Amino acid sequence: MVNSVFTPQSVDSLSKSIQLLLDLGVPEINFAFSILEPWKKASLIKLRNEIKTLRKILLAHYNKKGTIPVMDFRDGPGKGIFYCAAGKDRLVVTPDEEIWGCQLFPEYLKGKENSGEFKKFFFGTLDRFIANYKNIYPRIYRNYAWLSTDNYSTTTMDCYLCPELEYCQICPINAAFTGSPLGKIPGYVCEIQKIKAKEKKEFREEKSKRKRGLQKENKKIIIHKTTQMDNL
Ligand code: SF4
Repeated sequence: MVNSVFTPQSVDSLSKSIQLLLDLGVPEINFAFSILEPWKKASLIKLRNEIKTLRKILLAHYNKKGTIPVMDFRDGPGKGIFYCAAGKDRLVVTPDEEIWGCQLFPEYLKGKENSGEFKKFFFGTLDRFIANYKNIYPRIYRNYAWLSTDNYSTTTMDCYLCPELEYCQICPINAAFTGSPLGKIPGYVCEIQKIKAKEKKEFREEKSKRKRGLQKENKKIIIHKTTQMDNL
């Protein structure tokens, strides 16, 4: 598997890089975008063009080989709203023996030990947690459970009203590292999600169209063969 991260400076090479990986026969490819620095309009336009080209490359690959090596373009397990799995099916213990829902939280909340946010997401020290996890876990996990896309918002809308809600996958802490409050998604991060959602939707539609076309062709061949047999 190959993981690649693109920045506003390297985004022009997205489709070419993935084409190269496909040519090399890499079976599983992941790509992501660094959002630590803001994406200006010009970079978002480049991203839009690159993802469009990537969609065409992937469709050609799918038509030829029947596989979709880029994991983000594969069909998911079904529709649903993306939520942060921190605390739900994982916990981390830091070298200082602190318990958190995932490793990004202590990093994000470093230096904010007296804040309400720190207290909301900190499961406590290892010793305390072991002694009292039955009370601590449900009390703190409630705050992690809030971290699902339908609870977020941008400067222009609440995410639960967004038509792309079911295709939007944002790590809340990654978004918060930009300096935005937790759950408030910066405009350029939202735009990146919308660009990806649009191209993934078109990819799925083109793929289904081709599948329907092939099924029709197969039906025609079967009918043709049956008619030939009947005439024997
Ligand atoms: S695409 Fe933007 S508005 Fe829509 S759910 Fe994602 S962050 Fe919210």
